[in-house]
Amino acid sequence: MKKNYLSKKAQALKPSGIRRFFDLAAGMKGVVSLGVGEPDFVTPWTVREAAILSIEQGYTSYSANAGLLELRKEISGYMKKQFNVMYSPSSEIIVTVGASQAIDIAMRTILDPGDEVIIIEPCFVSYSPMVDMAGGVPVHVQALKENDFKILPSQLEEVITEKTKAILLCSPNNPTGSMLNKKELEEIAEIAVKYDLLVIADEIYAELVYDEEYTSLALIKGMRERTILISGFSKGFAMTGWRLGFVCAPEEITQAMLKIHQYAIMCAPTMAQFAAIEALKNGRSDVEEMVKSYRRRRNYIVQSFNDMGLTCHTPGGAFYAFPSIESTGLSSEEFAERLLLEESVAVVPGNVFGVSGEGHIRCSYATSMEQLQEAVKRMNRFINKLI
Ligand code: PLP
Repeated sequence: MKKNYLSKKAQALKPSGIRRFFDLAAGMKGVVSLGVGEPDFVTPWTVREAAILSIEQGYTSYSANAGLLELRKEISGYMKKQFNVMYSPSSEIIVTVGASQAIDIAMRTILDPGDEVIIIEPCFVSYSPMVDMAGGVPVHVQALKENDFKILPSQLEEVITEKTKAILLCSPNNPTGSMLNKKELEEIAEIAVKYDLLVIADEIYAELVYDEEYTSLALIKGMRERTILISGFSKGFAMTGWRLGFVCAPEEITQAMLKIHQYAIMCAPTMAQFAAIEALKNGRSDVEEMVKSYRRRRNYIVQSFNDMGLTCHTPGGAFYAFPSIESTGLSSEEFAERLLLEESVAVVPGNVFGVSGEGHIRCSYATSMEQLQEAVKRMNRFINKLI
């Protein structure tokens, strides 16, 4: 009999629920997509030009494992200026292959088999598999819509055990767009300190906030020493394809992560790092323009959903709206599938982000105003047919 070459872990992993919808949509014509979680903007030209120049000048070799020192210095300056958090470029920052790899090395650095990580749902689809692949145990807790999809400290306390090692926190959130304010972060910080937990703060959407000023978790009293702060260029700088992110953490944790990074990846792509230097040096006005545009689109889409009877809270950040579809009587899968097949609009069913996402759909508004208007027109028609 043929040997099974696949590990038990690989066999047990389920494909992302988002994929199924992308595959369905890929075979159709004229689809308006609110499905993908990436900016519709092309990376600003000067940033692209910096990468081209680096190639022309022959910078085609590996960089330092932690990334070009010049880039780490820029990241350090950026984090100080934008978020008032301080990290040493020489010992507390690693440039990674997207925030994705930063999350992966963070997990592999802190988890022993059986260690628990609290994951707040609805959440980014990769969190649970990444904890699992690192040998940890994901413990899910549900942020509820009646609390604007924000977790309550008491809910965290309920699931903490002796094995809890860390909380994984994402604000602004994918898929809900919910953003925790300073007071809410302080309440979570209190729990982390009380139980001596690490917090992995996924701040990849920190640039994309629309109403309130952003507070980084590392800024909260007692948190810098227990925070692994993850961010990157994909969302705020419209650089998803460059695969560039970074992680900031206290030196001891950073140096341990660096060992894993070094053996697994060596370093992030050098030309992408040159592009990122330019993005940080001169990209502020581009980011501000994109934020303005996202804000306009958010206001339009949230209002439109509420007008068509799909209750939608106003997301404070990221580029996702997460309206309720409960009034239609359909499950989120049924709603998304029928909307795609009957009106060619692609959205993501909320249940793929965890059980508390059921009854909702995730709609990315990182697409043009014309496309959003077309999607609203089609969705109105679809809803009217249902009633
Ligand atoms: N974290 C969250 C919450 C995300 O939504 C995403 C991408 O969708 C990532 C991390 C991964 O980003 P990157 O492209 O930097 O790997």
